[in-house]
Amino acid sequence: MEHCDVLVLGAGPGGLAAAAAAKKAGAEKVIVLDRDRKAGGILNQCIHDGFGLIRYGASVSGPEYAAKALKEAETAGVTLRLGLQAVSMTSDRRLLAQGTEGLVEFKAGSIVLATGCRERTRGAISVPGSRPAGIFTAGVLQNFVNVRNILCGKRVVILGSGDIGLIMARRLTLEGAHVEAVLEVMKEPGGLARNISQCLYDFGIPLYTSHTVSNIIGKKKLEAVEACPVDEHLKPIPGKSWIIPCDALVLSVGLIPENEVALTGGVVLSEKGGGAETDANLMTNLPGVFACGNCRKVMDLADYVSNQGTLAGANAARFVRGEALKPWNDKEASGMVKGLPAPGSVTCPICPNGCQIHIDPQTGAISGNRCPRGKAFAEQEKTHPCRTLTTTLRVDGGEERLVNIRSDKAFGREHLAEAMEQLKKVRAQAPIRLGDVLAELSFDGETVRFLAGEDVAAKCPEQ
Ligand SMILES: Cc1cc2nc3c(=O)[nH]c(=O)nc-3n(C[C@H](O)[C@H](O)[C@H](O)COP(=O)(O)OP(=O)(O)OC[C@H]3O[C@@H](n4cnc5c(N)ncnc54)[C@H](O)[C@@H]3O)c2cc1C
Ligand code: SF4
Repeated sequence: MEHCDVLVLGAGPGGLAAAAAAKKAGAEKVIVLDRDRKAGGILNQCIHDGFGLIRYGASVSGPEYAAKALKEAETAGVTLRLGLQAVSMTSDRRLLAQGTEGLVEFKAGSIVLATGCRERTRGAISVPGSRPAGIFTAGVLQNFVNVRNILCGKRVVILGSGDIGLIMARRLTLEGAHVEAVLEVMKEPGGLARNISQCLYDFGIPLYTSHTVSNIIGKKKLEAVEACPVDEHLKPIPGKSWIIPCDALVLSVGLIPENEVALTGGVVLSEKGGGAETDANLMTNLPGVFACGNCRKVMDLADYVSNQGTLAGANAARFVRGEALKPWNDKEASGMVKGLPAPGSVTCPICPNGCQIHIDPQTGAISGNRCPRGKAFAEQEKTHPCRTLTTTLRVDGGEERLVNIRSDKAFGREHLAEAMEQLKKVRAQAPIRLGDVLAELSFDGETVRFLAGEDVAAKCPEQ
């Protein structure tokens, strides 16, 4: 049996922040456990930027954010135990995990649960029709495209307007697929206004609110879906449906907290969302067992998850040391503008406030920005919209097939497709270090550099 002061389950942003904070708050031995072989959680497949605006004051990609969080944990002196799947726990803070080394038992002074969330599937929303190949959840597709280099469809329909679906609409379009439509059963889209603007409006992808998929067509492979408006009870209106030919249907219909291990120990879950219930100090009903991040309650931004992890980890250390715990302030986890951007306005992406900035078509006057940076952004949008591009390059001789990259500056939106075409011809040679310049392109007389968003080790030669 391995003993430690604080055991953190899950090495996503919540768990890494919790572990670093526990160490800083005085816990001697802090272990973070994860079933994946790479720390960072789901962020490793979220190659788009927009992370870190709150925590690091800069817009970085998911893998870059994960690398920063990992560095903080390592610098603090946390022990990482990767490739270990937790299978059960007890109310007196013992935890059993399984890996290639067999079963490992831990006994901890306190535990922080940071197991994240998973996606709702077709079963959870009961889409009628046959069961052909070609139906994916947005996160599975994100993993195929961003990590495994597999594009699963050329004509795509997205059901649900959650952020992952919106982000995948842009990603698939950039990769050369045609996104036929995004269908949302509710009156308002579920994703952030800035994602509606930059993932759908930028690419002319149609969004149908108050619509759903009323039938799936195809025997072995998906051939089409039937799209249909819904009534006030969210039921398809008979006689109003139409057929959209497609070879991929992507479901982006919500996230569910992941708490299978917590349940084995008797952690009480919320009846509404299935998240671990906690008191104001983020402690569950089990003394010394804390929960943070998306396994507690699904949050909009990884930054909020990290902030909550920081408090949960510090409280876990305080519990072990017999010190008073500190409360979580829920205001630290809200504020993003959701739904349709206000008509005739642009959504400022520079900070999480997401101001809806109005540009008067007659006078050109700009209003609605809370700070001068928003005014400059709106001026730019009016004359020449620019975007940062995140994508992947194929890797030769590496432990990974792909490396994610980000342009070092925003450049003309009209050049995005051309940039993607040119980048498809580039191959990166491992080893690669985060921040390496892997490609350079020129647009409007300016050089745009593409930087590696992660390390990729060289493949070990066969023994
Ligand atoms: C597919 C998908 C895409 C997302 N995209 C975005 C996005 O683009 N932007 C954004 O802000 N948010 C996104 N989110 C939300 C995202 O979950 C959070 O932003 C953030 O990553 C949550 O951090 P976390 O630490 O709570 O969980 P996670 O990052 O999910 O980390 C949880 C970790 O726990 C580990 N784990 C779980 N159970 C066990 C077990 N039994 N044993 C061992 N290890 C275990 C997992 O392997 C994982 O590494 C996405 C979520 C999903 C599911
Ligand atoms: S205008 Fe200023 S406050 Fe508003 S979103 Fe942009 S940067 Fe943030």
